Amino acid sequence: MVHSNRRQFLAGTAASFATLAMGRAYAQAPEGPFKLPPLGYAYDALDANIDAKTMETHHLRHHGAFITNLNNFAKDTPALGTTPVQDLLAKWQELPEAIRTGAKNNLGGHANHSMFWQIMAPGGANTPDSDLKAAIDRDLGGFDKMKADFNGAGGRVFGSGWVFVTVTKDGKLALVSRPNQDTPLMDGQRVLFGNDVWEHAYYLKYQNRRAEYLASWWNVANWSVIGARYAAAKAGTLTI
Ligand code: MN
Repeated sequence: MVHSNRRQFLAGTAASFATLAMGRAYAQAPEGPFKLPPLGYAYDALDANIDAKTMETHHLRHHGAFITNLNNFAKDTPALGTTPVQDLLAKWQELPEAIRTGAKNNLGGHANHSMFWQIMAPGGANTPDSDLKAAIDRDLGGFDKMKADFNGAGGRVFGSGWVFVTVTKDGKLALVSRPNQDTPLMDGQRVLFGNDVWEHAYYLKYQNRRAEYLASWWNVANWSVIGARYAAAKAGTLTI
């Protein structure tokens, strides 16, 4: 009985600590207009391609830090919290000088990661719909060439950065890369999808083998969401 009670007590305590730890992770972020968006799937859902610890650290700690920093900036610059992120990024040079670089980097990080979580999914068995496939064939030389060129561009990012496919309102696609947390949104463009090639995105599972990560990443691309983003871009409603 004693053991049983102890087990129950310990189980309850462990659950309480887990709840507290989770609550504390969020409670550390100052109150403010910026919120960490949920993944929409479990941290271990992409485990065959991206391990659970990487996903948890990447989401809670890396993206979480952007949220914390932005809420701190918003205390003195409330417009940060009331202006659409894509509009702030398109006019980042007009941000107050004292916070310009920091706000630009953290807004870019927030936009990039918010996009990144939503364009991945477990399984990834789906493929681009016919409308998007036609654009990929027309503008990027077909699906296989797009993947090869995207992986090549991701491999050539020196240090930390991102590789993206951008989309215009006319539905035209282009492949670009950016350093650090820069994003084509800073040039007023729209991002169809992108992959994070910072080492924190892959190092635990792949160490220095970025090419392996880039090749594996396509297994978790969420083509139904990417297709919806393509339709939104053409309708002029795609944001970040
Ligand atoms: Mn990242």
